Amino acid sequence: MKPYGYTELLEDVLKLTALYSEKVSVEIIGKSVKGRLLPLIKSGKGKRKLLMVGAVHGREFVSAAFLMRSVGELLSEAEISHASLYVVPMLNPDGVETALLKGSELFKNNANNVNLNANFPFFFEKVPKSRQGGGFAASEPETKALIRLCEKERFSSALALHARGNCIFWRDEGNKEILGDFELAKRFEKECGFELISSTKKAEDYSGGFENWFRCRYKRPALCVELVKDEEISFSDMCQNFEDAVIWSKTKNLLKTYIN
Ligand SMILES: [Zn+2]
Repeated sequence: MKPYGYTELLEDVLKLTALYSEKVSVEIIGKSVKGRLLPLIKSGKGKRKLLMVGAVHGREFVSAAFLMRSVGELLSEAEISHASLYVVPMLNPDGVETALLKGSELFKNNANNVNLNANFPFFFEKVPKSRQGGGFAASEPETKALIRLCEKERFSSALALHARGNCIFWRDEGNKEILGDFELAKRFEKECGFELISSTKKAEDYSGGFENWFRCRYKRPALCVELVKDEEISFSDMCQNFEDAVIWSKTKNLLKTYIN
């Protein structure tokens, strides 16, 4: 299998729209620093609008592959009637391409060398230099595009997919409890067996994060799921077979769990 990059994403988006033209629509929510498109896939007729975001970090392209495969399987089944799905499978295509080109897990940032998950306007002044959050909050076109989308759609909840740890981040001390956050986290824990991490304590860790910003802005749940184990799976394993990397047998129903 080829590693999952920007070209593979665009091919899959076209395939989905060709196969399920009745059920799915695609919009471009913005462009990356290098001008790559940021597609949004929409499907479903329900009132609850659910957001999913993948490949916020370049080296975590498996999360984009995971989302596209999951959406494809959902669409092959019955129409989604009780929710509406909004999927941004690859927020950081420039970072993905760099990570794949260099063949290394060192590359997570966008083309301006900014860590998008530290660039959101939430306690931005507390983001330590080492996290590479950029010169100011929402300085990056990818960050701006996602904020714009959230402001327009006012999602019921958000799910950000990352790669390392096989765990779920669901609360932080900057926001404290958000109605429904624990229930949603518990549902994911039950489905895939990933560990729930207790509330993120330090501002240096939660500041600037997408899901943390979302919780603050909308007072609604936003979770971060780390799909790949910390050990055993190497970068080249992730390139060769995303299904093994994300333990597909355990995680394949994650989206179904989310929409139900
Ligand atoms: Zn990440």
